[in-house]
Amino acid sequence: MKKKILLLVEIQHVNSEMDRLSGRRKDLPLKQEELGKELQRERSRFEDAQTRLQDAQKAHREKEDLLRRGVEQVKRTKERLLEVKNNKEYQAMLKEIETQEGKNSKIEDEVIMLLDEIDRVKVQLKAGEKEFAAFQSEYEGKRKSMEEEVKAIERELAGSSARLDDARKRVDASLLKKYETIRSRRNGRAVVPVWKEVCGGCHMNIPPQMYNDLQRFEEIMQCPYCGRIIYWEDRSKDESS
Ligand SMILES: [Zn+2]
Repeated sequence: MKKKILLLVEIQHVNSEMDRLSGRRKDLPLKQEELGKELQRERSRFEDAQTRLQDAQKAHREKEDLLRRGVEQVKRTKERLLEVKNNKEYQAMLKEIETQEGKNSKIEDEVIMLLDEIDRVKVQLKAGEKEFAAFQSEYEGKRKSMEEEVKAIERELAGSSARLDDARKRVDASLLKKYETIRSRRNGRAVVPVWKEVCGGCHMNIPPQMYNDLQRFEEIMQCPYCGRIIYWEDRSKDESS
C-alpha cells in the first residue's frame, strides 16, 4: 500500500510541475507579442525622425532652387535695364527688381531656418539611431532567451509527460479516477502531505487516531475536511536542521 500511495504522490508531483510549466509557457507568447510591439514603437519613432529629415532636406532643395531662379531673375532684369529707352519703363523695372529682391531675401531667411532645422533633426536622429540600436540588440537578446525558454519548457514537459504516463500505468484505474476527480475539484492538488496532524491542503487538524493510522500507510485515506488524499510526511529531519 505504501508503494501505491507514494506512486500517487509522484503523480501529483509531476502533475503540479506540468501545471506550473504550462502556465509559464502560456504567458510567453503574450510577453513576446508585447516585446514586438515595443520594438515597433521604437522603430516608428526612429523612422519619424528620418522622415522629418528627408522632408526638411527636400524643402531646403526647393527653396535653394527658388532662390537661384530669383537671383537670376534679378540679374536678367538688371541687364535689361541697360537697354531701356524711356523713364517709365525704367522705373517699372526698378520696381520689379526691388520686389524680386524682397522675395529673395525672404527665401534666404527660410533657407537659413531650414538649415537650422536640418541640423537639429540630424542631432536627434543620431541620438535616436544609437537608442534604437541599443533597444534592438536588447530586444534580440530577450527574444532569443524567450524562444529558448519555450524550447526548454517543452523539453521538460515532454519528459514529465513520459514520467506521468509511466506512473499512471502502475496505479489502479479506480484510484486514478478518484485522484482526477479530487484534482479537478481542488485546484490541481489531490494528494497532500500531513505532518503533526495538520493537513497540507486545508491546514485543518485531522483526528489523532487518523494520524496514527496514516503513519502505517495501510490504506488510502482522505482528509475529513477537504477530501484530499493524504499521506504522512516525516519532516522531523527538516525541523532539527
Ligand atoms: Zn485537508
